[in-house]
Amino acid sequence: MKIANSKVSAVRLVEDALKKAHEFEDYNIFTFLNDEGALKKAREIDEKIARGEKVGKLAGVPYALKDNFLSPEGETTASAHILQGFTSPITATAVKKLEDEGAIMIGRTNLDAFAHGSSTENSYFGPTLNSHDKARVAGGSSGGSAVAVALDIVEFATGTDTGGSIRQPASFNGVYGFKPTYGCISRYGVVAMASSTDCVGFFTKTPDDMDLLMSIANGKDSKDLTTLDDYYNSQSDFSRLAPSRPSLRGSGAHSAPVVADGLEKSDLRIGIIKEFDNDSVDSEIRKALKEKCKLLESKGYEIVELDMPALKYALAAYYIIVPAEITSNLSRYDGVRYGFRSENSSDLNGLYANTRDEGFMPENKRRIMIGNFVLSSGFYDAYFLKAAKVRTLIVKEYENAFSKCDFILTPVSPNPAFKLGEKVDDPVAMYLEDLMSVSLNLAGVPGLAIPAGKNSDGLPIGLQIVGPRRSDKNLIEFANELKEGA
Ligand code: GLN
Repeated sequence: MKIANSKVSAVRLVEDALKKAHEFEDYNIFTFLNDEGALKKAREIDEKIARGEKVGKLAGVPYALKDNFLSPEGETTASAHILQGFTSPITATAVKKLEDEGAIMIGRTNLDAFAHGSSTENSYFGPTLNSHDKARVAGGSSGGSAVAVALDIVEFATGTDTGGSIRQPASFNGVYGFKPTYGCISRYGVVAMASSTDCVGFFTKTPDDMDLLMSIANGKDSKDLTTLDDYYNSQSDFSRLAPSRPSLRGSGAHSAPVVADGLEKSDLRIGIIKEFDNDSVDSEIRKALKEKCKLLESKGYEIVELDMPALKYALAAYYIIVPAEITSNLSRYDGVRYGFRSENSSDLNGLYANTRDEGFMPENKRRIMIGNFVLSSGFYDAYFLKAAKVRTLIVKEYENAFSKCDFILTPVSPNPAFKLGEKVDDPVAMYLEDLMSVSLNLAGVPGLAIPAGKNSDGLPIGLQIVGPRRSDKNLIEFANELKEGA
């Protein structure tokens, strides 16, 4: 990525990014543009460079921030009416780490309200358009971030992935999108969707940029007790493996690093999930997957077939567990503490009810109702408890899979970007979009969406590489093996 130095000024980088952001206004990518704030920061960095002072690893790099990350710059709305008017007093840990290294936020990006969705059509501000075809969806929920990177407005963008919200829009727009191991990056200061599956991650144009961002953003945070120690930067370097020691394969999904020092790259086995190779998956996506397998075989990798029958329950379990957590996380929006308040009430209960009715999108309300239902005393055992058991099965299924292979290669979604309006009135069709992405979040394992060419309509095709927990760095390095023309 382009980083400011004595030859390229931060002001130039930021001006270029803002100019493009304004040029592409019709894509509805941004909910806020940080024209003044970004240029002010850029000038400060240029002054430091002129004085010969040390600047950060991301000095002057313009980036886009998904609008569910809290920071005092601009309102944080999560693209929801109920948060309009809310300016955060705090800064998310991930944002702070990026900005401490000199990255400059040029705008906040559009998402499905509260990140509930797969197209950005659930945004209060309307949908973001696909970077390759304006009649199609950007994907979601982090659609704005994906398109900002795909149209080359910014070097990178932040995202959150609770069930595919980074990987699916990345694949719909032909960029890299990474959901790390659960707990790798702090969730402090990120608008909560489902706390047990929410992950912070990024969109980039290359695996190397992803590696740089991960090396900066990961690590323990006393403000988020689910964060893990910085295992990322201590992982062995995939590209400098010497051929003498045996694989760590088989020692369980919690071991790190996944690739043992001394293991040769060609010793690696790549798993393909049998259950995802059927007619419900677009034929051109299946073809792209097969071509990548051939490429890997030609490089000496072994391809193994995996039976993962429990994955067929992942979507059902996800749409029970996640709404249950959503219901709890959204209970704080009451019209008293944050943002929007309905003026149409004469008493306190009316104020709560009307604010929530007017402030939430239909999909938010649907999930609140599902969540309350599955947690209710009459249905808890039948739904929530059962889904929690299925989750354990899925965790075990991945552990078992990673005793047979090192990484798994799968599609991200069953189809490329669909048409605007095609699924928005059919929640189940929209939920089916997440068929191949949600199991990773339930198991806490990392997944990287990679571009894998285009289909006959010129739409990007994406695949995802999945690894065991804490294999993040090796997984990103492995993506270089699958690059176009690699
Ligand atoms: N599309 C999924 C959902 O609507 C995932 C959303 C996300 O990852 N934030 O739940």
